[in-house]
Amino acid sequence: MSLTPFAYDLDEAQIRRERQKARELRASQWWKRRCAKGVCHYCRRPTPPGELTMDHIVPVARGGRSTRGNIVPCCKECNIRKKQLLPMEWDQYLSQVHSQNHHE
Ligand SMILES: [Zn+2]
Repeated sequence: MSLTPFAYDLDEAQIRRERQKARELRASQWWKRRCAKGVCHYCRRPTPPGELTMDHIVPVARGGRSTRGNIVPCCKECNIRKKQLLPMEWDQYLSQVHSQNHHE
């Protein structure tokens, strides 16, 4: 990893490119079909398609790509929590909601 300004510029360009790709995917039929299922990828709770938001499993800022494998629909609650929690706390949250769903 280099810390030269030039390398930093490259990273910024990559982030912009991935965000642009995400915008294009959001307008695609593939994305509309994913949202039409009406289920949050993380907590599996039924969520109206209009309330699902696009989330990168690996955030773009951490080197995640805007690919179909890395982009998922999630509910607002999960979206907010994923941003606020540390990765370890996020894993705990997921195992909690999954065990709750298991008892239903
Ligand atoms: Zn959720």
